[in-house]
Amino acid sequence: MDTRTKTATVKLLINGQFIESKTSDWRDVVNPATQEVLARVPMATQDELDAAVASAKEAFKTWRKTAIGVRARIFLKYQQLIRENMKELAAILTAEQGKTLADAEGDVFRGLEVVEHAASVGNLQLGELANNVAGGVDTYTLLQPLGVCAGITPFNFPAMIPLWMFPMAIATGNTFVLKPSEQDPMVTMRLVELALEAGIPPGVLNVVHGGPQIVNGICDHPDIKAISFVGSTHVGTHVYNRATLNGKRAQCMMGAKNHCIVMPDAHKEQALNALAGSSFGAAGQRCMALSVAVLVGDAQKWIPELVEKAKGMAVGEGTGSGIDVGPLISCAAKDRVEGLIASGVEQGAKLELDGRQPSLKVGSNDGNFVGPTIFSGVKPGMKIYDQEIFGPVLTLVGADTLDQAIEIINGNPNGNGTAIFTQSGAAARKFQEDIDVGQVGINVPIPVPVPLFSFTGSRGSKLGDLGPYGKQVIMFYTQTKTITARWFDDAATNTGINTTISLR
Ligand code: NAD
Repeated sequence: MDTRTKTATVKLLINGQFIESKTSDWRDVVNPATQEVLARVPMATQDELDAAVASAKEAFKTWRKTAIGVRARIFLKYQQLIRENMKELAAILTAEQGKTLADAEGDVFRGLEVVEHAASVGNLQLGELANNVAGGVDTYTLLQPLGVCAGITPFNFPAMIPLWMFPMAIATGNTFVLKPSEQDPMVTMRLVELALEAGIPPGVLNVVHGGPQIVNGICDHPDIKAISFVGSTHVGTHVYNRATLNGKRAQCMMGAKNHCIVMPDAHKEQALNALAGSSFGAAGQRCMALSVAVLVGDAQKWIPELVEKAKGMAVGEGTGSGIDVGPLISCAAKDRVEGLIASGVEQGAKLELDGRQPSLKVGSNDGNFVGPTIFSGVKPGMKIYDQEIFGPVLTLVGADTLDQAIEIINGNPNGNGTAIFTQSGAAARKFQEDIDVGQVGINVPIPVPVPLFSFTGSRGSKLGDLGPYGKQVIMFYTQTKTITARWFDDAATNTGINTTISLR
């Protein structure tokens, strides 16, 4: 008997119903710390995508007219439900993604902040009005929803990133089709269940699962108006090109190689702690992780202390107490990261700390574990510098001056995040002015903005003009309609025929 048939299946959500896919193509959702199969996820069919989009299109007819206060109150309730279920959500997330329970709660919390923001949509979706732009004429704008929007999300933040997308899209009056990562869709589905419990009506939020085929189907679907994508540069570029060729709006947040500068006047203890936490936390699988540190002048003498800190970090199963570094998402990801570490040695970088085959504080060697790894003497042209490693590997580069360090960072094609560690206001200010990266930390290693602001990755890390959440996403998910209206004081007023373009 096939024991796999007993494994739980991840459902699709179409028109308010959680349904079993009719596909014959299924993938396993695997606990990366143990290799236990937790569930099977379907690669949905084109018919199922069509049904999800049709349900969203139908629901849009009424949802777009729903009062703004009604929409906002659903998100007020939703944020409360997420808070009440935080521990359960974090446990599901850790089981399928691997990060520590504390970090899993952080993942949910950073998404929860966007839900809170969606609850204040009444203040955000405001148009403008100019009174008397000509005699008796007023001009004003409406920010109207687009229709059916879609979201495609990566494995590394399976709670936060879906929550970047559908709450703001739905709060602004759109309906939504979400395509979560097939590697860890379970916490996303629990969040979706809670969204329905909060009052999102049938058809307003739909979910399909799958890989390249379903993503291409989303890019091509004539009834989808806008696509939000977060994931690798290779796939994001493909999605952007395909979606925009089909006339859709697209915002694609993509891969990174985040550099920081450590100045010799930095507070040494704070800077090294921040560096280790950012580089090795979540096993380096954060798009905003610091993966390159440019050590300026005497800061290059701090390498032994940094190595000691990294050695002290506990590697193991994310459910274990006191764990700092969990597993990588898959066996393939572990092989890839280990291959890149081997290439660093071959290409002449100095391996200061080797995280391959780490000793585990909690957990089994079956898991996809790689411990903190540090290279010094790294140069452009080496694979470990040129590629996004997406593992717990920190590469160190030397520079003589701040100017030289800024030049190195601006010479890298990516622009997701960067940071400087210094006690000099003048150095920090020069850095914030001259650095060509969209998100800047000053003594803050992972400067992901709270949703009062927008996520503003730049250059090679982003395609599309407007970022997720904050004010920018209100513009992304709405069409500005500009109304120019004249109401005569006296209906009998005769202005005569005007054959010019001017309003008079
Ligand atoms: P990925 O690009 O492999 O997958 C992202 C999504 O695209 C998934 O839903 C996946 O099913 C789909 N997909 C995968 N291959 C595809 C293909 N060939 N054609 C069409 N669709 C495809 O990314 P990932 O490995 O899940 O996530 C890690 C990447 O995401 C890293 O590069 C990381 O930097 C990036 N990321 C960026 C941000 C940001 O805000 N800039 C945030 C998180 C993650």
